[in-house]
Amino acid sequence: MDNGLSGFISRLPLKPRPLLNKQEIKPGVYVLRFERNHDFLPGQVVGITTDQSIAPRLYSICSGTNEDWIEILFNVKEDGILTPLLAQLEIGDLVEVSRPFGAFLGDEKPAWWIAAGTGVAPYRSMLRSGLGNNKKLIHGGRTSDSFYFDTEMKEAFGQDYIRCCSQESGEGLYHGRLTNWLRDHNELPKNHMFYLCGSAEMVVEVRDILISKGVVIEQVMSEIYF
Ligand SMILES: Cc1cc2nc3c(=O)[nH]c(=O)nc-3n(C[C@H](O)[C@H](O)[C@H](O)COP(=O)(O)OP(=O)(O)OC[C@H]3O[C@@H](n4cnc5c(N)ncnc54)[C@H](O)[C@@H]3O)c2cc1C
Repeated sequence: MDNGLSGFISRLPLKPRPLLNKQEIKPGVYVLRFERNHDFLPGQVVGITTDQSIAPRLYSICSGTNEDWIEILFNVKEDGILTPLLAQLEIGDLVEVSRPFGAFLGDEKPAWWIAAGTGVAPYRSMLRSGLGNNKKLIHGGRTSDSFYFDTEMKEAFGQDYIRCCSQESGEGLYHGRLTNWLRDHNELPKNHMFYLCGSAEMVVEVRDILISKGVVIEQVMSEIYF
């Protein structure tokens, strides 16, 4: 028996939930909405699969705690097992969903929310759950269409919404990786929390930059997508 994280994930109890909506918000990037099974805290994840013979994968909930459904955001990995199947689901199909869990939790305190790619998902949940005050959102992506939920985020955060685009330049975009944007900022706010969400490489690099600028590790919360 596998007692590691993958063993924990593969043993998550799952319940079938009908898919209520599927939206392709950018090419190959989808928001799925399904019936809500439990209450959750903003920042938590669910395990999801299409069929109990395929081990569930974890997805951050990207909807708010007061909404009647649960939404997740994902991008299709062409060589992945589950995401191509999720992209083919039709409204009414059953999705196998676990209870929500996880400790990457938003709160009311001032914070910088830092995301790469689909790592913006938990911040949308936190925003929609009423935790958007005193927050700055720094989102990194390769191309100008990588900034999922940008309309909503622009409206919520205004100047405190920073889009770092590594491969394209454009109006309102910082041209470069989000790690470069952070390196360019010598003055980081004291007594703020820093939330990091995305790939392991991004999380480790950002954590090291923050620490080199005087942030203490207790101020850093991370969620690694693997
Ligand atoms: C806490 C957490 C939260 C997450 N939240 C989100 C989210 O909100 N949105 C989101 O899009 N993703 C999220 N993820 C990632 C998600 O769980 C899946 O890993 C992702 O969607 C890919 O699933 P898949 O089945 O399509 O790919 P998989 O089949 O799992 O493969 C993933 C990649 O790994 C490669 N791979 C697979 N097996 C091997 C191997 N043995 N050796 C080398 N390479 C291999 C594949 O080629 C592919 O590129 C999260 C992950 C975690 C841990």
